[in-house]
Amino acid sequence: MLIVQKYGGTSVGNLERIEAVANRVIQSVKEGNKLVVVVSAMSGVTNELIEYANFFSKEPKANDLDMLLSSGERVTSALLSIALNEKGFKAISFSGRKAGIITNSVFTKAKIKYIDPSAIENELNNGKIVIVAGFQGVNEKGEVTTLGRGGSDLSAVALAGALNADLCEIYTDVDGVYTTDPRIEPKAKKLDRISYEEMLELASLGAKVLQNRSVELAKKLNVKLVTRNSFNDNEGTMIIQENGMEQALVSGIAMDKNQARIILRNIQDKPGIAAEIFSSIAKENINVDMIIQNVGIDGTTNLGFTVPENELELTKKAMKEILDSNIIIETDSAVVKVSIVGVGMKSHSGVASMAFKALANEGINIEMISTSEIKISMIVQEKYGELAVRALHEVYGLDK
Ligand code: ADP
Ligand code: ASP
Ligand code: MG
Repeated sequence: MLIVQKYGGTSVGNLERIEAVANRVIQSVKEGNKLVVVVSAMSGVTNELIEYANFFSKEPKANDLDMLLSSGERVTSALLSIALNEKGFKAISFSGRKAGIITNSVFTKAKIKYIDPSAIENELNNGKIVIVAGFQGVNEKGEVTTLGRGGSDLSAVALAGALNADLCEIYTDVDGVYTTDPRIEPKAKKLDRISYEEMLELASLGAKVLQNRSVELAKKLNVKLVTRNSFNDNEGTMIIQENGMEQALVSGIAMDKNQARIILRNIQDKPGIAAEIFSSIAKENINVDMIIQNVGIDGTTNLGFTVPENELELTKKAMKEILDSNIIIETDSAVVKVSIVGVGMKSHSGVASMAFKALANEGINIEMISTSEIKISMIVQEKYGELAVRALHEVYGLDK
């Protein structure tokens, strides 16, 4: 089989861990597999590099940032290759560029345009294990780009698709996908299987066990995807098409801390205003999430919405260029989004009211709500986030 394995930050967190990963890779090769291995930066390194940049500037240029951040993954890939060669297994380390990953030019959150896997294929044909630095590519001018936080998952899935691999294994520091983050709720249950659709919602809503774009791409390219623990040999979670599965009412609870709420007061209640505001934000490639507009009084109204917390400053800057000076901008970064996901919601009623009651019982105020066919999201104060997750996990019986 041709397998793409990906090892996350904790899995390669120190030199002993990289050695353990080398041994896992060797075991898979001995079982007769051809391997492409995608690695993350050692845990904490990406954050540390961001801090280095912030020592000099609060708003470093994004292309400089990508040169800096991409280095973390290159360190790990080179070290893993060195370890494998020393153990007598032929390996070669590739940057994103050498791996043929071509992206657009949206630095720090680039999208993959296409992959030319020929260099990897050549080395596989030479009998080598190919180690690829995750999280990065180059644009068509040859400038280094990165794929957004958690982006090594995307590198792995995209390579698995381009190489037509038989399997993509995402190795991390928990046994697989749980009903909620097991670090928040120890009673969370590991799922043996989850549908792409539900996994995509959970990932998009903050369950960082898989990066959301990687799930989206795996679904699109039909990549066989499994998440497993690099610290043990347990089964893991298979991401599968929906058919034939028993449809749980609710399959998981997610929390996203990277949220900020913005309220604009005193905006004119007339056609075109919302379009103008949200276009100014979209120009900066910022994703606006929940939006609430109040009923207008006296020709003015209030508009509330959320953006990723790490893009709050950029959002304010983008809006200031078009907003009248009498508009009041209020912001709150101390909020989180908790969400309930389940395909079973499509055919059941009363799911939302259960959630509202569960939070009310804990005295937690819900500040914003949004729903879709298979999810309900609520904004609450950050200090209540974990409590809300546990309360919701319990009310839907996910610990049973
Ligand atoms: P890696 O560095 O391997 O990419 P991440 O830290 O990005 O690992 O993702 C793994 C973490 O995701 C786990 O340690 C866990 O705390 C968190 N997590 C959040 N939600 C879930 C969930 N539903 N199931 C499993 N893990 C989750
Ligand atoms: N090192 C990058 C990050 O911390 C990418 C990854 O780990 O997937 O976001
Ligand atoms: Mg990750």
